[in-house]
Amino acid sequence: MIARVVTELSLDRGFDYLVPPELESVIRIGSAVTVPFGKTLREGVVLDLPASSSYPASKLKYIAGLCTTRADIPEKLIELGQWIAEYYCCSQEHAIRTLLPAAVRSGKLKHKTRKLFTIADSAAAEKLIVESADKSSLRARALILRELRSAGTMSIDSLKNIPNFSSSSLNTLLKNKIISAEEEIVRADIFGDAVIMPSKPLPPTPDQKKALKLFDDMLDGYTDSKIMLLHGVTNSGKTEVYLQCIAKVLEQGKSAIVLVPEISLTPQTLRRFRSRFGDDLSVLHSRLSERERFDEWNRINEGKVRIAIGARSALFAPFRNLGLIVVDEEHESTYKQSESPRYMARDVAVMRGKFENACVILGSATPSAESMYNAKNGKFLLARMDSQANDNAAPVMRMVDLRLENPEDGNPLFSKPLIEAVRERIARGEQSILFLNLRGYARVMVCKECSYEAWCPECSVHYTYSKSRQTLSCHLCGNVIPAPESCPQCSSPTVRFDGAGTEKIESIARAVFKGARIARMDSDLMRSASDYEAVLEKFRRGDLDILIGTQMIAKGLHFPNVTLVGVLMADLGLSSPDFRASERTFQLITQVAGRAGRGELRGEVYLQTRKPENETLMHAMNLDFAAFSTYDLEFRELFRYPPFTRLIAVWFKGSNEEEVAACAADFTEQLRPYAHEKIRLAGPGAAPIARIKGKFRYLLTIRGEGLKVIRQALKVLAFHRKYPGDIEISIDVDPQSLM
Ligand code: ADP
Ligand code: ZN
Ligand code: ZN
Repeated sequence: MIARVVTELSLDRGFDYLVPPELESVIRIGSAVTVPFGKTLREGVVLDLPASSSYPASKLKYIAGLCTTRADIPEKLIELGQWIAEYYCCSQEHAIRTLLPAAVRSGKLKHKTRKLFTIADSAAAEKLIVESADKSSLRARALILRELRSAGTMSIDSLKNIPNFSSSSLNTLLKNKIISAEEEIVRADIFGDAVIMPSKPLPPTPDQKKALKLFDDMLDGYTDSKIMLLHGVTNSGKTEVYLQCIAKVLEQGKSAIVLVPEISLTPQTLRRFRSRFGDDLSVLHSRLSERERFDEWNRINEGKVRIAIGARSALFAPFRNLGLIVVDEEHESTYKQSESPRYMARDVAVMRGKFENACVILGSATPSAESMYNAKNGKFLLARMDSQANDNAAPVMRMVDLRLENPEDGNPLFSKPLIEAVRERIARGEQSILFLNLRGYARVMVCKECSYEAWCPECSVHYTYSKSRQTLSCHLCGNVIPAPESCPQCSSPTVRFDGAGTEKIESIARAVFKGARIARMDSDLMRSASDYEAVLEKFRRGDLDILIGTQMIAKGLHFPNVTLVGVLMADLGLSSPDFRASERTFQLITQVAGRAGRGELRGEVYLQTRKPENETLMHAMNLDFAAFSTYDLEFRELFRYPPFTRLIAVWFKGSNEEEVAACAADFTEQLRPYAHEKIRLAGPGAAPIARIKGKFRYLLTIRGEGLKVIRQALKVLAFHRKYPGDIEISIDVDPQSLM
């Protein structure tokens, strides 16, 4: 018997070993083993049990043994890992590593245990209790036995709580085998003891009924596809559909994974799942400790829970009988992992579903172009929910043409209609959200005299000015310097700060809405989850009139008293050269618009813009996703962007620009033979952000169909060649950004 084993250092290949006869019955795909490698022993994972090896058996070594410090990986996950390695052009060991959380992989953590005591010989115990009436020497022992008799099992801590408890008596009882002790694994309790009221499934709305019926058909195998795109407007009841579908899957004795973007993993969301499923739920988020992560993984691995909810990495929860994967907000770009393997969790979820014959639900109010395309060509089943499940009405949308506003009589950032609307809210005791729809858009330092602009010396981006801290900082490399008082180039004191960050908006808002209670929320200010929670809590309690923020406040928050959302510069993202710019803008506007009027009161949304005729904004203004999607897909088809073609980006980085350029050119030449009219190479050239942290960046893009062959070539070029200096090559399949 032969096993193909990958170790941490195997450079994208498995090595064949013989399986010793005594291990033949226990070695499986996914087993953790130790193998001889050169003169040392290494830990590895069995990738395959091939019928034969290309090496003669006499040359093969034996597996040294099972690796006891590492957990086995379910076979289906190994299969998924192999697919990831191939599709995303990463090495096998990288892909396998992704399948396990670091806390489990390291093998350093052990299960925490405690001893549990029970009566082993009840006849002897009864006898001793009776005898103790006359013999005072037996009293301490009888005391323990009486407690154990009524409690069944007790831990050492609860035994010690018995008045007059004696540990020597306990030991004697153990020695005489009247009681026995068993080790029990103690796991971190991530929920604490918060009391959650149980909830029952809500009677479905007509839309939900249709979606649930489609799911039933899918689950029972009556449909061609097992992937459902659940396209439902905000508040249409998607989450309720997920909950009911999960319940159906559990009824069949299977498990479910729910992926949500990290930012939506709020206490509100968790409460809904917990109130339906109690403790049959594991939560995997970035704030867990190593110990908690280890324990949660093991709970899932041992089948102690049947539902896992979490961000990207929850996708690899080691269930062995998976019935359903839900990907909420499937359009979210945060589902893409930014380092190798650069996988897209939504797409990997679809693959895992395929390998394990599980159903997949992709839910969104604004599905990605990729998913809409797949729904149109029948790869995905489509369920639509166009009306809201509660009685909330869609918000009233208003566009404000900023060009008609006279900057002389006020501020170009706040139009008169918006100022009026906010004032009305303050007067009525309702709340407003003011939103700047681009992360990292901020104030730039410019000299009026010589036009000097402050750039980060390490990166090709402007420094961002912070007034409260009097600093210039770089959002790419984190460089921070004190803001200069005069121009570093010509020493003129006439420096000014252009553009508008949320900080500036806050200070204008404070001037315009005197006396209003205002808070700002952006990644600059919110250092930790508790900062974030604190501001939200204040807002929820009604201690704030206006909340100003970026992306952070666009998602998932439910505040019944918010009746106004102002998008200050709705067209801001549209000028980006990215082919997803329209899609992102539409998604963001729809999302923030959904923050208005989630209670009894009807919401109102103001879109301020200088481009009111822009097609994306018009569709957003009409809350017309269908029209937007048609427009966006036509644009992508016309310019041959995904999903009408496949895209791979190859990045070259290094501190010597000539070396980087030469390396990129050479790499491209090596790929040239694979290019033809169906596979086109573009570049290499300097990337739009040409430098980050002092490293020059070059970009090559590959576009076309049938990229399998070129992916193999890419892997060979990236992993099995040496490049000069500090050059790093990274391959990004289906990139989210080409900046
Ligand atoms: P989505 O996930 O699409 O935004 P939710 O599932 O959060 O929608 O539902 C929005 C609101 O409507 C929630 O308050 C939820 O409790 C309520 N809701 C959902 N489904 C129903 C239903 N079938 N009957 C009554 N209320 C519902
Ligand atoms: Zn100057
Ligand atoms: Zn920088």
